Amino acid sequence: MIPFSGNPLERMGEARTAAKMALLRARADALFLPFWQMKPLVAGARAVFLTADVVAADAFCVFLGLDGERPVFAVDLGAGEDAPLPERGEFRDMRAAAFVMPARDTAIAGQAKALLYWHRRHGFCANCGAATKVTDGGYRRECPACGAEHFPRTDPVVIMLPIFGDACLVGRNRKFPNAALFSAFAGFVEQGETVEEAVRRELAEEVGITVGAVRYHASQPWPFPSSLMIGCYADALSRDFTIDGTEIVEARWLTKAEARARLDGVLKDDGMALPVPIAIAHHLIKDWVEG
Ligand SMILES: [Zn+2]
Repeated sequence: MIPFSGNPLERMGEARTAAKMALLRARADALFLPFWQMKPLVAGARAVFLTADVVAADAFCVFLGLDGERPVFAVDLGAGEDAPLPERGEFRDMRAAAFVMPARDTAIAGQAKALLYWHRRHGFCANCGAATKVTDGGYRRECPACGAEHFPRTDPVVIMLPIFGDACLVGRNRKFPNAALFSAFAGFVEQGETVEEAVRRELAEEVGITVGAVRYHASQPWPFPSSLMIGCYADALSRDFTIDGTEIVEARWLTKAEARARLDGVLKDDGMALPVPIAIAHHLIKDWVEG
């Protein structure tokens, strides 16, 4: 399972009326996943869900979905200096939390983080500047002044592995915090582009490589802050490439055997590491190696 995928909640997309949301919010068995500074509360490698009696009536909540019969909300506890609820656990960076939490907790926390982050930054109408109101359980904001509707963003990003014969091309991005890390290439899908066109454009820009067929493989919600990673393989037409030198500072072809030897995350003698399993890039490489 790719981390952040497999969210088990029933989102009730057609039934998130104000009346229904108020009923669910008032339920004694409702659960609330708290965030502080956009970090989820974690204890013992599990996400901590609060019960309704602990959550203030005026706390900012969004509806995540039903877990069986139980309503699950996310609650934003702000970004103040002191972390709340110290007796319940620790607010951990979302990436760090995703490394340790079970898949279902990671998926739910990812949904919550992306949604809460959007609300934090979209309190005012982009059309007229008036304060907007939350509706649809948190999946829409409405402007009472001009009537505009605003929906939470999901930003599509293509992430792709060029393949030529028995080798794949990986690159080192200048922004990677780990100087040994080589990964798949990625970029935002722009307006008026298909996924395949974005893959070809990004690869031409970043590593100057020309590819033919592009094949979708898998996708991953990536709440940093609100992307959808669309994982693809791209058939390179030759092994020739030219790095752009600004975003990508180095690229290398790796055979399947070389890639396989690096999937365990252990740094090899040549100082090259591949992505860890939290990232879809890891799964793109792994699935190709094992395919
Ligand atoms: Zn407006």
